[in-house]
Amino acid sequence: MKRVLIVEDEEGLLEGLSHNFKYEGYEVLTARTGSEGLKMALKQKPDVVVLDIMLPEKDGFTVLKELRQRHRDIPVLVMTARNFEADVLKGFDLGADDYVTKPFGIKELMARVKRLVQRGPSGAPAPGPTIYKFGDVEVRFEPREVHKSGEQVALSFKEFELLKYLIEHRGRTVSREELLEEIWGVDEDLGVTTRTVDTHVSNLRSKLGAGFAQPFIVAVHKVGYKFVEP
Ligand code: CA
Repeated sequence: MKRVLIVEDEEGLLEGLSHNFKYEGYEVLTARTGSEGLKMALKQKPDVVVLDIMLPEKDGFTVLKELRQRHRDIPVLVMTARNFEADVLKGFDLGADDYVTKPFGIKELMARVKRLVQRGPSGAPAPGPTIYKFGDVEVRFEPREVHKSGEQVALSFKEFELLKYLIEHRGRTVSREELLEEIWGVDEDLGVTTRTVDTHVSNLRSKLGAGFAQPFIVAVHKVGYKFVEP
């Protein structure tokens, strides 16, 4: 049974979401403040987190940031208030995997969560090699871990997906649009932009690139990116 943690302080919405997730067969954990949510996410290790941004004690951004700082790559879907595109971008930069804007349709949210759970760490293992090494970096696809010089490196869910996709298609130039579609599931303008891809590439480079004479993710002018062994 998949476990979802819902962090939301609006009682009505929390109840509505809980009810729907239970109906879909999830085990539901709930938290009403940011600090409670963070504690539960770390302790209970849910398969997915549905996280509100405006929360008492600790806002959703802080929860997300602290979760990622502690090497937790649990998929997180963020709920933002209407007309806060900046929040969406900030959320992705901090490692959110998807978002909905309030007010949202419950069916859309359920579908997005389902997709995150299927792609998540406890989902079906990806085909192909289980370990890929380049330089002093070791990427383990199952369980999803990345080590550099023997030390585990904290990657967000999307950063890992991006690295994995580029490795699986190494030597080929992959366009930003393809990455947006494959990694973020975006095929129209939902507030996710090609800048999001660039940010994630730059995060990967700074987390894994130290010591390499050349970047392992090469920018291809006006097109996208290509993975090459450094
Ligand atoms: Ca709220």
